[in-house]
Amino acid sequence: MNRALVVAIDGPAGTGKSTVARGLATALGASYLDTGAMYRIVTLGVLRGGVDLTDPDAVARAAAEVEVAVGHDPAQDKCYLGGEDVSAEIRGDAVTAAVSAVSAVPEVRRRLVALQRELAGAEGCVVVEGRDIGTVVLPDAEVKIFLTASAEERARRRNAQNISNGLPDAYDAVLADVRRRDHLDSTRAVSPLRAADDAVVVDTSDMSQAEVIAHLTGLVEQKAGAAR
Ligand code: C5P
Repeated sequence: MNRALVVAIDGPAGTGKSTVARGLATALGASYLDTGAMYRIVTLGVLRGGVDLTDPDAVARAAAEVEVAVGHDPAQDKCYLGGEDVSAEIRGDAVTAAVSAVSAVPEVRRRLVALQRELAGAEGCVVVEGRDIGTVVLPDAEVKIFLTASAEERARRRNAQNISNGLPDAYDAVLADVRRRDHLDSTRAVSPLRAADDAVVVDTSDMSQAEVIAHLTGLVEQKAGAAR
């Protein structure tokens, strides 16, 4: 697919969104932008600054200083904070626990949304993954997809992933965290998580990731064909 085309993929954590978005970008020969990683990099910078997360002004000030850079190759998930490779650290528990609070601060969102629009505006086809891409960041995206799955299924997947990463089996705690993050993300004042009116909603509860990628590739090709 070589014509310029923007595909927005939104949805809550645990829907397989990142794997699916990267798989779709690879299948389309597109570049890939992980906006969640950008919020995670800013969160890591804020945590390293020892900032009180309950003070939004302090968070906003600290966040404004964080130098954020992300790779756009779907095969290589590279993230940098001021030039330091933080790809692994931003997936850790400390960042995961703090990211919803940091991403709820309006100044943080304003800055990152501007950066996301700039990065997505580069030439060619791009798959952009996040929570508010189809609704706020790129409302003119040619294709909008909203991935869902039940909270229980998302917790089951995350718990299995944790176990394979050597973490303890803690399904109940993981389910509680999935629900906590869903609640924070869908009730925050700025850019709450919701499907765009013109998004295609895909429930991945009973689908494998390969099936989801194949389904979405078909959807994008159909849209691209219709737009020609
Ligand atoms: O996608 P990922 O789980 O890495 O995102 C981490 C967090 O960043 C989400 O829980 C959400 O709070 C925030 N986020 C956001 N808007 C986006 C992407 C992520 O608020 N576009």
